[in-house]
Amino acid sequence: MSQPTPRKTLPLAGRGWSELEPALQALRSDDVDWRAGRTPLHVYHAGEETLDVARRAYAMFITENALAPAAFPSLARMQRDLVDIALSLLGGGPEAGGTLTSGGTESILLATRSALQSFRARGRHLHPGARPHLLLPSSAHPAWDKAAELMGLDTIRIALDADWRADIATFAAHLRDDTVLAVASAPSLPFGMIDPVEAMADCAAARGVWLHVDACIGGFLAPHVAALRGGVPAFDLSIPGVRSLSADLHKFGYTPKGASVVLYRDDADRLHGFAHDAWPKGMYRTETLGGTRPGGAIAAAWAVMHHLGEEGYRRLAERAMSARDRLLAGIEATPGLRVLGAPPLSVIAFTADATVAGAPDIHAVGDALTGRGWYVSRLSAPAALHMTVTANHGQMVEPWLADLAASMAEAGQRSSEAPSRLIETY
Ligand SMILES: *Cc1c(COP(=O)(O)O)cnc(C)c1O
Repeated sequence: MSQPTPRKTLPLAGRGWSELEPALQALRSDDVDWRAGRTPLHVYHAGEETLDVARRAYAMFITENALAPAAFPSLARMQRDLVDIALSLLGGGPEAGGTLTSGGTESILLATRSALQSFRARGRHLHPGARPHLLLPSSAHPAWDKAAELMGLDTIRIALDADWRADIATFAAHLRDDTVLAVASAPSLPFGMIDPVEAMADCAAARGVWLHVDACIGGFLAPHVAALRGGVPAFDLSIPGVRSLSADLHKFGYTPKGASVVLYRDDADRLHGFAHDAWPKGMYRTETLGGTRPGGAIAAAWAVMHHLGEEGYRRLAERAMSARDRLLAGIEATPGLRVLGAPPLSVIAFTADATVAGAPDIHAVGDALTGRGWYVSRLSAPAALHMTVTANHGQMVEPWLADLAASMAEAGQRSSEAPSRLIETY
């Protein structure tokens, strides 16, 4: 048996930056080369100039604490500005409001808390036999299951239609009096498809059920793609029946990690706050899950949005979409591969077509791509490969397509011996 690595302890003597910087560089030596577009998810890079703006703003507010708006009105103001900008992009009317959060998961937890408060206020949990639950298309993000688990709710996951969107008939049939909140994704992370939000909102409103649009990944991309080339189904707060919406700044807003928004069609639905005064220090109030919150992420998000502006975001959307177009064309031109659905944005998934003789196991193709130095994003059901194409991916299209062709051949040779294996898909 190998010895366990000894537990690290705090060094006795401190070290200067001249020693720490190379130590940190060494630690990152195995990290994926995101600058070269080697990973199809997790990183959103708008270029060195934007990154420099983010870095400077982050450093400027690195010590400030957004727990205390009275001490740091600057951060309160920046958060209001970011929520206002998000509302203006995502169909918020005069009654709308929202909160800046640390990420998509927190936005989702807060929306669930608001919906649960509203549900309880209506006494719906008192119905005999009620099992309060979240109603989720099977493509919805696991953050919803996390929210349900934390708040003691059940979940019901429903089937998708042939285009990998929530099936509207199944959705309508599952809305119940004990549905606390129903989700539509815009788009879903696995397939990049936008659920039929208008139809879902009609059904949910008719049953008095709260509909949330999870636009975490697409919220800061879709409005710009819609303006550039159209073809984006309606999904935002302007649709009656959409009660709340989440959108991540730290994805296609290209801001540093730690920034998202949860928005409400009617600010009176923003019921996620917390307050407690039965302790020695009197009233303690927070808007979000965290207590102490980093000022840097807020200032950097504010700076990046003002640096890029609408024109900057349009250019980034155009670059992401043209990289996506070239990737889709290359994938579709490869015999044996098939794109799942007709994704309107730059989140795509593709699989090996079982109807084509000799088509390889798609995960074996993924393994071959990994062997060629690409970080690979996978779907498990159906087995597929997945990409979140950003403005930084234009440079990787040709080398990746060449390696895809080589990986198809490699995987085809191996297909007879392909073992089934457990796959970490995220
Ligand atoms: C990324 C994502 C989330 C979770 O957001 P985090 O910022 O990772 O917490 C939720 N829903 C969708 C659709 C996402 O793409």
